[in-house]
Amino acid sequence: RIVYVNGDYLPEEEAKVSVFDRGFLMADAVYEVTSVLDGKLLDFEGHAARLARSLSELDMQAPVGHEELLEIHRELVKRNDLVDGMIYLQVTRGNPGDRDFVFPDPETTRPTLVLFTQSKPGMADAPMSKTGAKIISIEDIRWGRRDIKTVQLLYPSMGKMAAKKAGCDDAWLIEDGFVTEGTSNNAYIVKGGRIITRDLSHDILHGITRAAVLRFAREAQMEVVERPFTIAEAKEADEAFTTSASAFVMPVVEIDGVTLGDGKPGPIAKRLREIYLEESRKTAT
Ligand code: PMP
Repeated sequence: RIVYVNGDYLPEEEAKVSVFDRGFLMADAVYEVTSVLDGKLLDFEGHAARLARSLSELDMQAPVGHEELLEIHRELVKRNDLVDGMIYLQVTRGNPGDRDFVFPDPETTRPTLVLFTQSKPGMADAPMSKTGAKIISIEDIRWGRRDIKTVQLLYPSMGKMAAKKAGCDDAWLIEDGFVTEGTSNNAYIVKGGRIITRDLSHDILHGITRAAVLRFAREAQMEVVERPFTIAEAKEADEAFTTSASAFVMPVVEIDGVTLGDGKPGPIAKRLREIYLEESRKTAT
């Protein structure tokens, strides 16, 4: 695999980042994941815009301009013959040459930029999208700026492990009884034909897929309500689903051992997945 590090395209074995890099020492870094279908980028503009916002919220410099970023994405797709999969991008505050809590001077410490591809053949037809996911709920103990896409993924990772241990696929995070989001996705329930998902704030990541799916839902005359919902309400929903750039729209069929509806992916989740894939392929670049 050919990866990108600070201006160079290298075989992955030769790619290196310093042990003093603040991404490594302090999780002082942000990331993006952009899906690739048929060799084309899905919603590159959305991911680039959110990256710019994450960087600005943390007073971090952008390592390259918008056009160059797009060029790097395309070059990696080409050099790796990527058909279906993802491009992972990470920007760190760089390597100041020593460990220090104080941010380094941006004049002397440049941000680190790393990108690599992950191949996922047939990702649009993932088996779980046919059966639906089983989820557990766990307490949301993450920090208060979940709208910034930082690489602090230890707790989400622990949540996925807890789900796996329980024989499930993923976890939803609960704060004050209300669902914030999934470990790596936004969360939705459907009741009486109405799609309910938490409103945007510092409490959740502003999903690029969420924005697209809600737009498509409204265009298809589906009713969307953006408000917090409790885990109790979720267990009584007709259906549920999650959205993310890497899994698109994923039906949820079980929450904490409670089966939703007939235990199969619901019609609205299935329809939204179809629409999302169809429309995203059309606008892919
Ligand atoms: N919430 C969290 C916590 C996530 O990690 C992700 C995926 N990175 C999402 C939501 C979904 O965001 P997107 O649709 O932009 O992938």
